[in-house]
Amino acid sequence: MQYTPVIGLEIHVELNTKTKMFCSCSADYFGKEPNTHTCPVCLGLPGALPFANKEALEKCLMIGLALNCKISKDSYFERKNYFYPDLPKGYQISQYRKPLCIGGSLALHLGGGKLIRINRVHIEEDTGKLFHKKSKTLIDFNRSGVPLVEMVTEPDFKNVDEVVEFAKTFQQIVRDLGASNADMERGDLRLEANVSLREIQKDNLPDYRIELKNINSFRFMQHALEYEIERQRKLLEQGVPLYKETRGWSEEKKESYLQRSKEDAHDYRYFPEPDIPAISFNDSDIERIKAKTPELFSSKSKRLETEYGLTSETAKTLVKQGMAGYFEEAVKEGEGLDPKAIANAIVNKRQSTELSPGEFTGKLREVTGKQETSMGDLEIAVLSVIKHNEKAVGDYKNGKESVIQFLVGEIMRETKGKAVIDKVLKILLEKLND
Ligand code: ADP
Ligand code: MG
Ligand code: ZN
Repeated sequence: MQYTPVIGLEIHVELNTKTKMFCSCSADYFGKEPNTHTCPVCLGLPGALPFANKEALEKCLMIGLALNCKISKDSYFERKNYFYPDLPKGYQISQYRKPLCIGGSLALHLGGGKLIRINRVHIEEDTGKLFHKKSKTLIDFNRSGVPLVEMVTEPDFKNVDEVVEFAKTFQQIVRDLGASNADMERGDLRLEANVSLREIQKDNLPDYRIELKNINSFRFMQHALEYEIERQRKLLEQGVPLYKETRGWSEEKKESYLQRSKEDAHDYRYFPEPDIPAISFNDSDIERIKAKTPELFSSKSKRLETEYGLTSETAKTLVKQGMAGYFEEAVKEGEGLDPKAIANAIVNKRQSTELSPGEFTGKLREVTGKQETSMGDLEIAVLSVIKHNEKAVGDYKNGKESVIQFLVGEIMRETKGKAVIDKVLKILLEKLND
C-alpha cells in the first residue's frame, strides 16, 4: 500500500495589544513579576464583567483579511468549558460557531503556487501559566486573558516543506501587520499540526488524525512531522488501525508520545457568552481597517520590483532592512537618478542612511557625477575580479549578498581607488547577473 501525508495546521498567535482581551490589565506580561497584571476579570472572580478589546478584534480582522477570509457580520463569543488550574473561570472565552473570519486562502511558492485553504481565523483568550517546582505547582495569572488569534487551515498540506513554508509566511504576515511579535521562543506563536496518512488511490480524508503539540520551533515541527509520518506509515503497513489521538513532541528523544486518546476526548459544551455583546463590524468599519492595514512584506517587495525595476533580491533586502519607505522617498527626491542605483546604494550602505533621503540622493549625485576611470578600464577590472574570485561569486549566486561589498573592495583596489563606487556596483551587478 502507498500512502501520502495529509496535514492541517492550527496556529495560535498572541496579539501585542496594550491591554488584555476582556479587561484593562496590561497585556505586556512577559518577564514581569508573577500575578501583578491581574484583576477580577482575568482572575475569573464571580461577578466580574468582561468587555471586548477593540484593538484585538481589529488585529484579528486584519489577519483574516490578509488571508483572504470573509468577515462574519454576525460573529459572537462562546464559552469553551473545561477544568484546568490555569483557567480560573472554568471556561475559556473563544469562538466556535461564528468565527470572526472564515474561509480564506494563502498561496505558497511551493507546489507551483499551491493554495492552502484557511478554515477560520478567530479570537480567544490565553490561560494562566503553571510552574512546577519540586512538589509544588505555582500559578501566574499575568497571561490569563491575553488576546490570542487562532488560525486553522484545511488539511491541504501534503508534505513537510509546504507546512514549514506556510508557517513561516504566516509568521511574517502577522509581524508585517504589527499584530504580534510572533516569537516562538517566547510562546507568542504556537504550532499544532494534524497528521494522517491517506491511501494514495483513495480520495477521501482518513478517518483518524493525530494532533501534534509541544512544537516549539519550525525546526522541531519539521522533525515532529517527519517522525510522525514514518511512525504512522509503519503502523499502517503492519495493519495496525489508527485512531484520533493527541501526541506531544520530545525534541530530546526525537519522538512523539501519547498525551490523550479518543476515549478521553473533551466535550467542551460550547454556548454563547452571555456577558459580551455580539461583534459588529459593518462594511465601512472593514474599509476603515483595510485602509490602515500595513502593506505586507511580500506585496511590498513585489511592488518595489515592478514599480522601480529592482531585482527581487534587492527589493527583499530593502524591505527586510526596513528601508523601503526611505528608498521611495529618496527616489522622489533624487529626480534623474536611477532608482536601481539608489536602491543599491541603500542596500550596500554606501552612504549613511542617517542622512535625510534628499541629502542621501544629493551625495549620491555628487559621487556619480565625477568619473575618473574610463568605462573600458573599469569593465576590465570588474571582469578580472570576477574571474579571480570564483568562491565569492558562487556565494553571491547562492544568495549571499554580503560578498558584494568584498568584490567592490577588490575592484576598488584594482582601480587604485579611482573608480566611482556607483559605477563599480552597477557594472559588477550586471556582470554577475549575466
Ligand atoms: P477540531 O474542531 O476537533 O479541532 P477541526 O475540524 O477544526 O477539528 O480540525 C482541526 C485541524 O485538523 C485542521 O487544521 C484540519 O485541517 C485538520 N484535519 C482535519 N482532518 C484531518 C485529517 N484527516 N488529517 C490531517 N489533518 C486533518
Ligand atoms: Mg481545533
Ligand atoms: Zn485583568
